[in-house]
Amino acid sequence: MVILAPLLFAVTPSSADFNGIAMFPIGKSVYIESPATSEDVDATLKDVQAAYVGLHRAFSPDPSFQPIVFVCRTARCKVAFGATPQAAPASDLGFAAVALADETRDRAVVVTGPNASTARVLTHELVHARMKTWASYDALPVWFNEGLATAIADEPSCANFEPSSEIDVTALVTKSEWQTHLETTGQPLRAYCQARYATEAWSSFANMRELGAKARAFAVAAPQSRTTTSHRSVRLEKSPRLSNGSQSSKQ
Ligand SMILES: [Zn+2]
Repeated sequence: MVILAPLLFAVTPSSADFNGIAMFPIGKSVYIESPATSEDVDATLKDVQAAYVGLHRAFSPDPSFQPIVFVCRTARCKVAFGATPQAAPASDLGFAAVALADETRDRAVVVTGPNASTARVLTHELVHARMKTWASYDALPVWFNEGLATAIADEPSCANFEPSSEIDVTALVTKSEWQTHLETTGQPLRAYCQARYATEAWSSFANMRELGAKARAFAVAAPQSRTTTSHRSVRLEKSPRLSNGSQSSKQ
C-alpha cells in the first residue's frame, strides 16, 4: 500500500497544473506537489488544520476568507510560484506573494512541506493572506506586516532573540527597505523578532484576539487599502493611531 501510494497520487486525474507544476488537491483549496505519499498527505492535512488553529487564535473563522494553500516539496515548485532560486531550497520557506496570473494570487500562499515547521510557517503566511483581505501588503508598513505574522504564528521563533534597542525596525516601511536591512545585516531572524516586539508594543499586546482586532482595524483604516496599485508604502507613525474609535489608541 505504502509503496503504491506515490504512484496512485501522481496519476490522480484530478491533479492540476499550476505554473508547470503538477499539484493535486487533498482538501478544500489545499494542493500538494505531486508525487506525494499517503503519509505526506496525512501529515500535510494535520499541518493545515494546525495552521488554521493558529490563525484563529487572532482572527475569527470567516467562511468568506478562502485562501489557496500550495504545499511544495521541491525547490523547483517554489521557484515556479515566485521564490528566488537562492531562497527556494530552504525547508522553512513560505511566502504569500505568489506568482499566479489571476486574482487568486491575493489569497494564495506557498509553504514547504510537510516537515516540522510547515504548520507554523503556514500560519504566518495565512496571516498575510488574511490581512490582504483588508489592505494590500504595500499599504501597511512591512515591519508591521511581518511583526504581526511572526507574533501570531510564533514563526520564526524568537526564543533566542531578546528585544534590542540597537535597531529600529519601524524605520523599515517598504519592501526594499526591509529587504536591504536583511541583506546588509545578515540577521533576518533578528529583524523578524524585533518587528514582532514592535508590533506587540504597538498593540499593547494583551492576547492574540486583541492583537488581531487591532491589526484588522489598522488595515481597514489604511489609506489606499485594497485598491492601491502603487508599490510605494504609506509611511505611518511609529505608533499608528487606530481610527475605529471603539478601542483606546496607543500612547
Ligand atoms: Zn511574512
